[in-house]
Amino acid sequence: MSTPLYITMHPADNVAIVANDGGLPAGTVFPDGLTLVDKVPQAHKVALVDIPEGGAVRRYNATIGYANKPLPRGSWVHERLLTMPEARALEGLPIATVKPEPPPPLEGYTFEGYRNPDGSVGTRNILAITQTVQCVAGVTDFAVQRIKAELLPRYPNVDDVVALEHTYGCGVAIDAPDAIVPIRTLRNISLNPNFGGEVMVVSLGCEKLQPERLLPPGSIPIVDERNVADVGDTAEAKLDVVCLQDDAHVGFMSMVQSIMRQAEEHLERLNARRRETVPASELVVGVQCGGSDAFSGVTANPAVGYCTDLLVRAGATVMFSEVTEVRDGIDQLTSRASTPEVAEAMVREMAWYDAYLDKGRVDRSANTTPGNKKGGLSNIVEKAMGSIVKSGSAPITGVISPGEKLKQKGLIYAATPASDFICGTLQLAAGMNLHVFTTGRGTPYGLAEVPVIKVATRDDLARRWHDLMDVNAGTIATGEKTIAEVGWEMFQLMLDVASGRKKTWAEQWKLHNALVLFNPAPVT
Ligand code: CA
Repeated sequence: MSTPLYITMHPADNVAIVANDGGLPAGTVFPDGLTLVDKVPQAHKVALVDIPEGGAVRRYNATIGYANKPLPRGSWVHERLLTMPEARALEGLPIATVKPEPPPPLEGYTFEGYRNPDGSVGTRNILAITQTVQCVAGVTDFAVQRIKAELLPRYPNVDDVVALEHTYGCGVAIDAPDAIVPIRTLRNISLNPNFGGEVMVVSLGCEKLQPERLLPPGSIPIVDERNVADVGDTAEAKLDVVCLQDDAHVGFMSMVQSIMRQAEEHLERLNARRRETVPASELVVGVQCGGSDAFSGVTANPAVGYCTDLLVRAGATVMFSEVTEVRDGIDQLTSRASTPEVAEAMVREMAWYDAYLDKGRVDRSANTTPGNKKGGLSNIVEKAMGSIVKSGSAPITGVISPGEKLKQKGLIYAATPASDFICGTLQLAAGMNLHVFTTGRGTPYGLAEVPVIKVATRDDLARRWHDLMDVNAGTIATGEKTIAEVGWEMFQLMLDVASGRKKTWAEQWKLHNALVLFNPAPVT
């Protein structure tokens, strides 16, 4: 058997996690003399000292809970033995108090990307077909299958054709104030850098979300003379809409042909695009985690955090998200805000989400899953401490609300639910051109719209899911690699994937999860 190993995150912690595959039996003696009094599963916590009843249990130098009964040194500390602390109040937080020395800029790194008319850069060249309403999804999907089979082979520079299917558009209270969230999400996804500014819409005709409401005049870019509308003095892009209820359509096949005919015009333009060398500062990376375990915050997320710092130093944009997974670390985040305005925006997002959860009679503790707990995460406080480290150490320079598009570079807090699909969908709307996803329990997550680099937190997962995981951060726990080494490995892989030189496993297998809109407004 390998040497018994535990991992402590901070010198002030009174628990650590067991690193060994398969866990360790009672009676195991660690090299420093600590002896297990219980069997402790891998990634679960062991008490490093005697913790009295009511005593604070500390990991990441944060109180993750209070002991329900005395926890002797060497015992297994699991969720049923802990009482969760209250959420930090949103008043009296430290505001922009941490002013780290700006690290030297990272220069000379580039990738091969598709430069867009609006200045953004795509990492893939995809025709996306926007839909105003779910009613048209079947017809659009039928047309997309034919486009892929009959048209796409003639346009070899285009990577894929993707129908932006969703469940919104009708049967919803579209004038409710919060309806702005799903509507702007759909609009901004249509404008994602990977779609080259080519916007085409399939509409039913009678739906609440009319094409002009989804994409009002001025919202889409002019790509050439063919999509310019005749509006007098100022040139404006013409919205390309195929409306299924149009009288001109006689029979199903005429609808399919309309979609195919319009698609071909966009395919021609997309096919003429070429990759060019652009600075790494054009990367817009969305980071998130899912299927987390206690290793997430020890291996994969710290490596992502290291990589986040590299990206920010290179002038790129990194978004971190997942409100319920940062809520318990809000004081760390407001103190790292670059200005009081950024801190206030962060608090505003937390307060909005607290109220949103409260309406459903739950709080942030509704986040954790049975798998998280089995993986050693006792509660949301512990999960949050491990999740926040994805944001690295740079100052937070901006905050956006759900569905909004990024307006600046740097480290941005993009407020989203932690749901993998909703978070990914909202980061797409924000304009991400590359997605990084860490997992400990394992998830085959992927998106059709952007490449997803998946990072395993444990050696065992990376071994079993060898053709699903792109990076093995488990090497950090085994001592084979440092956090910095895995962080750099990720950075290089990002440049390769962004350039199209490498495909992620999710791309190779075409593992595509659905877009899932965040709709806090009522349906009718
Ligand atoms: Ca997530």
